[in-house]
Parts: sequence; C-alpha cells; structure tokens
Amino acid sequence: MSIRSGVRQARSFTMLRMKSWEVIVIGGGIIGLSLAIELRKNGASLLVVERGEPGREASHAAGGMLVDYAEETHPALQPLATASALMYPEFVRQLQVDSRINADLRDQGTILFSSAGHENNSGLSSGPLTAVQLAELEPALTTIDHPAFYLRERSVDPRGLTAAALGAAKHIGVDVSSGEEVTAVALADGRVCGVVTKKTTFHCDKVVNCAGAWSGQIAPHAFPTRPVKGQMLCLISPTHGLLKHVIRAPEVYLIPRSDGRILAGATVEEAGFDKRTDVATIKRLYSAAIALVPQLRNAKILEDWAGLRPGTPDGLPILGATGSPGYFVATGHFRDGILLAPITARVMAQVIAGKQPDYDLEAFSAARFG
Ligand SMILES: Cc1cc2nc3c(=O)[nH]c(=O)nc-3n(C[C@H](O)[C@H](O)[C@H](O)COP(=O)(O)OP(=O)(O)OC[C@H]3O[C@@H](n4cnc5c(N)ncnc54)[C@H](O)[C@@H]3O)c2cc1C
Repeated sequence: MSIRSGVRQARSFTMLRMKSWEVIVIGGGIIGLSLAIELRKNGASLLVVERGEPGREASHAAGGMLVDYAEETHPALQPLATASALMYPEFVRQLQVDSRINADLRDQGTILFSSAGHENNSGLSSGPLTAVQLAELEPALTTIDHPAFYLRERSVDPRGLTAAALGAAKHIGVDVSSGEEVTAVALADGRVCGVVTKKTTFHCDKVVNCAGAWSGQIAPHAFPTRPVKGQMLCLISPTHGLLKHVIRAPEVYLIPRSDGRILAGATVEEAGFDKRTDVATIKRLYSAAIALVPQLRNAKILEDWAGLRPGTPDGLPILGATGSPGYFVATGHFRDGILLAPITARVMAQVIAGKQPDYDLEAFSAARFG
C-alpha cells in the first residue's frame, strides 16, 4: 500500500468511526444487504459491518433455486416463501438497474423427480410428465425410477445476486465497512447505542443481526444458530445449453446457469464451522450428476466448495425484535435464504420502523427459544 492510499484509508476509517447511523446491519450476506437496501430506500442512514468481504459466505455458496414449495417446507414459512418468490423478478430487476450487475434470473422452470404427492404445489402445471414430454423438455436427461413433474420455479445466480445487492447498496448510499468483526452490540441503559468490533465502536440507534451461521456469537444474545455445511460442485460442459431446467432428483440437484456452468449439489452436514470439501463427497455428487445426464462425462470440473447454512433448532428463521430495545435479528434462513431475501427485507424493515408487518412473524420470534 502506498503512503497516500494508507493515509486515505486511515482518514475514511476515522470518518466512519465519528459518524453515527440510524441502523447498523451486522453481516453483508444476501439477508443483510437486502435489508440495508430496503431500509435505505425508506430513508434511514445505514452501515453494514462485515467481518470479511460482503457476500462471501453462505450467500456465495448457494445454488440459487427459488423453491417456493417443497414437502419439507414448514407450514409457518409457506406464506413468506410464496410471497418472496412472487417478489423476485422485481427484486432482481431493481438490483440490476442500480448495480448494472447481472444476477442471471432464469424462469425455464424445474423438473422434479419425486414419488411424494404434490397436490398442494401451486407451481405444478400438470400431473407427472410422460417419457416423451420429459425427453422433449430435457433431451440430455436419463429417466429414473421416480415420476417427473414440471414446476414453474425460478433460479438465480447467488454470486451475481450478492454482487448486485452490494453494488446497489453502495449506489443508493449504504455505507459498508469490510474486515470488521462485531463482537458485541453496545447497550446504554439497556438500549442499543452501537456495535463493538475488534478494532472500534460504531454508533447508531438500531442494530440488526444478519450474521448468518455466526449470529449466535455476538453478545449479548446467544441466538441458537448453527452452521449446516453444504458441499457443491461446478461443471462446465462443452455442449452449450446442455440443460435448460433445474433438475431436482433424490441423489443430486443440477442447476444450469446461462453462461454454461452447471452446479451439482448439495450435502447437508453437521460439521461445525468447517468449510473444507472432501474428495469422496465431491466424487459422489459428480457420479450422481453423470447418472442423471450422461453427457456430463465430457464436462470439465471448474470448482468445488462448501458453505455454511444458518440453521436453527426448529428449522425456521429468527425474525423480529429482541429483548433489548433497538436490537433486531434476521437470521436462520437455513436452505432458503436466497429465496427469502426479498420478503425478509420487507417485513424486517416494517418491524424496525415500528409498523405492523405484512405477515404474522410470531412463529419466527427470537423469544420462542426463551
Ligand atoms: C451449498 C448451499 C446451497 C444452498 N442453496 C440454496 C438455494 O438453492 N436456495 C436458497 O434459497 N438458499 C440456498 N442456500 C441457503 C442460503 O445460502 C442461505 O440461507 C443464505 O445465504 C443466508 O444468508 P445470510 O445473509 O443470512 O448469511 P451469509 O451469506 O452467511 O452472510 C452472513 C454474513 O455475516 C458475516 N458475519 C458473521 N459474523 C460476523 C460478525 N461477528 N461481524 C461482522 N460480520 C459477520 C459473514 O462474514 C457473512 O458475510 C444454500 C446454502 C448452501 C451452503
């Protein structure tokens, strides 16, 4: 670093320390960034404090399927999932306009292999596909021993999405401080007055904890979040457009991107804060991908990675106020944080402004854990 850029960095750091914001968001993942944008658009001054680089944790590792109905979706979450899926096209459009970064929102739909009943699935356009219909939709796919359904689900590239959200946040005047690990929320007379990092204290009236799998590590409230590891593999096929649809099968899911990449995922592992991949798991995902789409045998492996989903004891997010006035939380989105980002931003902005949220958030209250 040159002396001049060092002085510039020190000066902007000092300015950030002296400033005060209405709201500080802890964590620059998709949840924190989307909420910061919503609050800023409602007129609040905002600082996002991020331990590393914004958008490099779970939101970077995600597949980006926008699954608004699944057998395992908790009934309490269904209204939020449905609303968020409907908000997605406008959510992405606005981020792209503000940031000029493409998030690759695709609406070709999903082919789901499943033996379970799907009569409640609003995205289902018809009954099981015939072999001929399946071959017309996805010629490269082999048939497997489960009925196949076509679903009107979208997908997005989470890396493009978080980059667009970061660009949009900065464009509309959200301050972002990277490389700052928050250790505690500062309270004065029991009310929020800022956040304490390893280097400094930032002052504000309200704080929102959006620290994903790490949310429970910030004093004074130990939210019961835990990391749930997911390993993934990214392939690139010499045949461009080999797959059009997201494929969800029991052994693996495949997510095509418009630039030719195909993601194969993902594991669900209780492995603590360990983000390493292992050869046996990546091989298993690769074999399952080839079993579904034999032409992937000719594909190159671009990358493999693991990310940490923010899990909670009951599998539901934690959304709303905490026991400390001015301190809020939006975390624990587990397998659905990309899908749930737009609705989380909307309802949390309403709660933080002291308004009645559009949806009942009782089931997601931090108080449910005592
Ligand atoms: C393999 C995999 C596949 C997935 N696929 C999908 C999918 O297809 N669809 C879907 O909807 N969801 C999916 N998810 C889930 C989704 O990625 C998460 O639910 C979502 O990204 C959570 O966003 P977040 O902002 O809460 O967390 P994160 O993206 O993890 O962001 C939290 C941020 O907080 C920062 N932070 C932590 N502690 C501190 C601190 N003390 N101080 C300052 N900053 C801090 C972190 O550095 C991080 O940047 C997947 C996840 C994984 C791992």
